[in-house]
Amino acid sequence: MIIERIRAKSLIKEVTPSFFSWAKVYLNPYQGCWHDCKYCDGKAESYYMHEDFANRIKVKVNAPELLEKYLKKRGFFSSNSSHSLLNYLDATVERIQMPSPSKFVIFVGGGVCDVYQPAEKELQLTRKLLQIICDYELPVFILTKSTLVLRDLDLLKAINEQTYASVNFTITLADDSVRKIFEPRASSSEDRFQAISQLRKEGIHSGVYFYPCLPFIGDTTENIKNIFRSAKKVNAEYVITWGLTLKPGRNKNEFIDTLRKHYPHLVAKYLELYGNNDKYGNFDKKVFKRLGLVLPRVKAFRYNYEMKLGYSPIRYIPEKTNKVNLILSEILLKISHLKGFIMHKNFTFIKELYSAALYIEALKVSVEEILESNNSVKLPISKSVLSIIQDYLEKGYSSILQETEKEAYHHSLQFKS
Ligand code: SF4
Repeated sequence: MIIERIRAKSLIKEVTPSFFSWAKVYLNPYQGCWHDCKYCDGKAESYYMHEDFANRIKVKVNAPELLEKYLKKRGFFSSNSSHSLLNYLDATVERIQMPSPSKFVIFVGGGVCDVYQPAEKELQLTRKLLQIICDYELPVFILTKSTLVLRDLDLLKAINEQTYASVNFTITLADDSVRKIFEPRASSSEDRFQAISQLRKEGIHSGVYFYPCLPFIGDTTENIKNIFRSAKKVNAEYVITWGLTLKPGRNKNEFIDTLRKHYPHLVAKYLELYGNNDKYGNFDKKVFKRLGLVLPRVKAFRYNYEMKLGYSPIRYIPEKTNKVNLILSEILLKISHLKGFIMHKNFTFIKELYSAALYIEALKVSVEEILESNNSVKLPISKSVLSIIQDYLEKGYSSILQETEKEAYHHSLQFKS
């Protein structure tokens, strides 16, 4: 492994919080990933990563500086009294004088490189970032394939006590002999499950990102059931399932080469399935149908429902934000997900739900106030979306979301698994 230390100009990417992590800020001190997963789309040319992605790891050594600078600029203060006493007192005075900004979740490891790959053992950059997040009392979200994250349990617990910590594992293959083919240098799937168990015992949020679920390999009934059973057993909060994308170029070529070696009988099917060379790596829908495949997220939803395992991460609602607005936005996004991605229904309505969710998320005033002041006409949302909002406001829970989940469950039952 070659470690290349670099001083980066930028680190932070701001996004609209989504179903994927609810994080608003993404950052990653690493470029390149030693785990060398054979389906890794980080290797795709479109991410502008270097060719020897798995063996040469670029490290943004100034990542902690950049994060601290960003947080200060956003009006946050460190509560770490181990900085010089004068700085600490200055910050405390300023903190009292200034209104503190509302918090947001920071995704450490957003992008395409694992922040707990082996280089982290020695470099401890992710740990330094967590220390800053802890000092600034902000919430954190992590997604990894390495149990090295447990090294930082002390910090994660401290962050979780202050605000919220969510540590998630990508787990795609229950059988370790198959896992070794596709994720040769990551922790074993069993170790990852055990790490979830440990995190949950400490009260830290944790779930399974079951993707990419590989056609004909990971989407078998056996693998899906085993992943869900193990997730349930270790008290994971949710399992999020998604399929495989293969971007033309390095990403696809390397995956096909792996198949040639270990699953030669599947090569022709994959070449056909991804023969459209879609720039985002999506499969050819017609071939997908002809091969009798079913979307893994649809098959898996029955287990989410039956095992009472969520299908999205638990959302952190910061103080000083409009709680009801954020809950409503989440409900709308969930209904849009179930209708769009599980049941494939009425796309106009799904779009309406999605844009209403984004609108409400960004709204400065509470939806309740707008409705009470009879200004609902001013809300740019349709009657159907409004009825979902009113249902929640009247009952304190969303009966429409519950019904939609039931409907999605019955839909998923049509597909044998
Ligand atoms: S752990 Fe993630 S980033 Fe690293 S090689 Fe595997 S898929 Fe790529």
